[in-house]
Amino acid sequence: MKIIAFGIRDDEKPFVDQWCQANPGVEVKITQELLTPETVTQAQGFDGVTALQLNPYADEVFEKLASYGIKNFSVRNVGVDGINPQVVAKLGIKVTNVPVYSPAAIAEFTVTQLLNLLRRTKEYDRKMAQGDFRWAPQISRELNQQVIGVVGTGHIGRVAIQIYQGFGAKVIAYDAFRNPELEKTGIYVDSLDELYAQATVVTLHVPLLDSTHHMLDQAAFAKMRPGTLIVNASRGPLIDEEALIAALDSGQIAGAALDVMEDETQVFNHDLGNRKPDYPAFNNLFARDNVLISPHRAFYTDVAVRNMVFESFQASRDLFEKGYSDKEVKF
Ligand code: NAD
Repeated sequence: MKIIAFGIRDDEKPFVDQWCQANPGVEVKITQELLTPETVTQAQGFDGVTALQLNPYADEVFEKLASYGIKNFSVRNVGVDGINPQVVAKLGIKVTNVPVYSPAAIAEFTVTQLLNLLRRTKEYDRKMAQGDFRWAPQISRELNQQVIGVVGTGHIGRVAIQIYQGFGAKVIAYDAFRNPELEKTGIYVDSLDELYAQATVVTLHVPLLDSTHHMLDQAAFAKMRPGTLIVNASRGPLIDEEALIAALDSGQIAGAALDVMEDETQVFNHDLGNRKPDYPAFNNLFARDNVLISPHRAFYTDVAVRNMVFESFQASRDLFEKGYSDKEVKF
């Protein structure tokens, strides 16, 4: 079998080499180029394709793959929103993704950022960069004293719960579809309103759906305890950023850690140098001491990248050799 991998980053290469050593029967070609109507010609003669990119995949890419007889397409990430489902269905191309690559990577990062908020790390870093090594007046708060409201108890939310419990914090949770094992522990509250009323920290671990778009809006912030902290490493549009800014201004929300933002693609994964993006909400939030912004990097660990490479390559092999893969996406 022959696989071609598009958009390979330097940090993925050692894992591609490891996979190739473990799969000597498979010939693999890698390229850093993204998969476009122009670069897709390199796939001629291959049996499977893997790719990873933020840009949507052009319909023409799949038309050309089909014309080369390639019926397997494996993305190395979760999201398949850049793929037109009608086009791949019409062409008979099977698509796989890597739905779970390291829940701990994301969960640990959200806890780290919450600790940084509680410990006022951004203020200390700024002070020390100016030569001020006094500890006062940035008195901090302790994680074990918080009531953590976990919204979404899927793969990532459940790991976050374990970590918070290890710190001795009280954890409450809400999910539209409860986890049976977790339910036995009595952790669930019956509604988001109940969670907002009790929590001192609200951390989001739900997907972006019509029902969760702007889940945290003006009305939601108003229902929270004054001084609540917000953590979001799920999807930017879960939060209405203008409402968050207003809630930070009023003090209703005491701080936020955001690894995702509503319009993040114009900022994240770019080197902007000294240029400010044309994104007023980002500029407003980024300037605040009590808001931590990170460039959608919660996933970016050695374990996660390894799993994204290994599982996508394996899925491509399974589709070609067995005709099915447990990672096949049902659009
Ligand atoms: P998951 O599917 O395992 O869990 C999501 C949970 O949300 C499920 O239990 C589901 O029942 C629940 N849910 C769905 N709709 C809900 C609603 N309206 N109200 C309450 N609960 C609801 O997903 P996961 O793997 O834990 O991922 C969670 C989020 O993290 C996703 O949005 C994903 O895109 C994001 N993510 C971010 C990064 C990053 O690097 N920042 C990396 C991976 C995933």
